[in-house]
Amino acid sequence: MNLMYRSTRDSKVAVKASEAILKGLCDDGGLFVPERIPALQKTTKELSEMDYRAVAYEVMKEFITDFTEEELKTCIANAYDEKFDTEEIAPLTFADGAYYLELFHGRTIAFKDMALSILPHLMITSARKNDIKNDIVILTATSGDTGKAALAGFADVKGTKIVVFFPKDGVSNVQKLQMITQKGDNTKVVGVDGNFDDCQTGVKKMFGDEALKNEIAGKGYQFSSANSINIGRLVPQIVYYVYAYTRLVKNERIADGDKMNVVVPTGNFGNILAAYYAKKMGLPIGKLICASNENKVLFDFFETGVYDRNRKFILTSSPSMDILISSNLERLIFHLTGDNAEATAKFMEELKSSGKYEITPEMKEGLKDFAGFYASEDATAEVIKSLYEETGYVIDTHTAVAASAYRQYCKATSDETATVIASTASPFKFARSVMTAIDKKYDELGDFELIDELSKIGNVAIPEAINEIKNADIRHKTECSVEDMKSTVQDFLR
Ligand SMILES: *Cc1c(COP(=O)(O)O)cnc(C)c1O
Repeated sequence: MNLMYRSTRDSKVAVKASEAILKGLCDDGGLFVPERIPALQKTTKELSEMDYRAVAYEVMKEFITDFTEEELKTCIANAYDEKFDTEEIAPLTFADGAYYLELFHGRTIAFKDMALSILPHLMITSARKNDIKNDIVILTATSGDTGKAALAGFADVKGTKIVVFFPKDGVSNVQKLQMITQKGDNTKVVGVDGNFDDCQTGVKKMFGDEALKNEIAGKGYQFSSANSINIGRLVPQIVYYVYAYTRLVKNERIADGDKMNVVVPTGNFGNILAAYYAKKMGLPIGKLICASNENKVLFDFFETGVYDRNRKFILTSSPSMDILISSNLERLIFHLTGDNAEATAKFMEELKSSGKYEITPEMKEGLKDFAGFYASEDATAEVIKSLYEETGYVIDTHTAVAASAYRQYCKATSDETATVIASTASPFKFARSVMTAIDKKYDELGDFELIDELSKIGNVAIPEAINEIKNADIRHKTECSVEDMKSTVQDFLR
């Protein structure tokens, strides 16, 4: 019996995992959700004896049930290999009373690699299973991290092409260099004369353009999306929570069966939803602590039960969390309604028309698993500085938002449960913010000087991802206006 995927907005939809991976989003605009959350079939003791790939298989096989054992194991083996700079794939580092789960050891040194290393393999396997002969063309708009992680994942993967649009003046220097130096004949990177929303809107338009879809179908192509609402991104993210827990057991940091709290720096709500699913699978997770930056829509939601996006968008030092619509929250809302698609559709309709909605008191009860906190820019910088001064450990700005939330949580509750903080980016990716948080004097240094200095004071080698861009050739010089995004894609597929 296959586990089927339903739409959060229409109870009649039911598709297999491979179909949900290929489609990304439901036709009704809803998100695919598993009809039930499966339980882990192995004990945490058994899982603690396995390596990352074996744990990944145990978790993912419960969700992606229409893949054969060999298909899924091949996807996993192709994803979690030497691309990661550590055998452990997602190592834990203990500092100042918490375990930092380092999710940045992949090719682009941000946690997006955890899912985007495997998504291309899940997608081509899904295409083959569904007799799709077309090549898959991934269209992505990015504000920085997703674009590079998707490019690195899809580069030179047979049967795929990828086009990434970024706001040409709206990403950091390192992020831009990472993208425009991308290798692979099947990749195309385009700087758009507009902001991230313009890029996003342009891409959405192409997904809805029937004439364009027919035109490229004639050439043997079809579009797909790699964004974080794809269940092919969500499911691989459940794995590292199971892995983290079982490492704590294996290393006798906790007894088997003890609870573990998790703190997740949150933007689109994908990463923390994966932790929630891990808990629902039976992993002994206590609190799910949701950390926001100054764009604290989620903090307010957990406080009041009202989700309200009508507010000023704030640019912070943790840009990957600068989000006012957390798309994946729709899945939690669906579960809070008791998997009621009609009720969920109504909330989403309200969000669309008025920018806000309020959940019912019964739904609020279901939020007890979560605690919400947020960190101001000052608090974020202060945590980076004090953690470094007290322990020598340097964390990036996104992780620092979580570390600040954790300090606030401890103060508020005196909960002493072992706690894992999801560490979502390497400090090298956000070197300027990190270094100036430690000492303002560093602001005078150039980008690569800062990186050398960070390596020295943190006593960590410069990641390959940074060395790579230092001398790499610029391969992507295309820039275009918002209006010309479509013709850029047509040219690329000619
Ligand atoms: C994407 C991202 C986040 C936010 O993750 P969500 O799944 O969108 O909540 C946090 N930190 C970094 C570094 C990211 O790239």
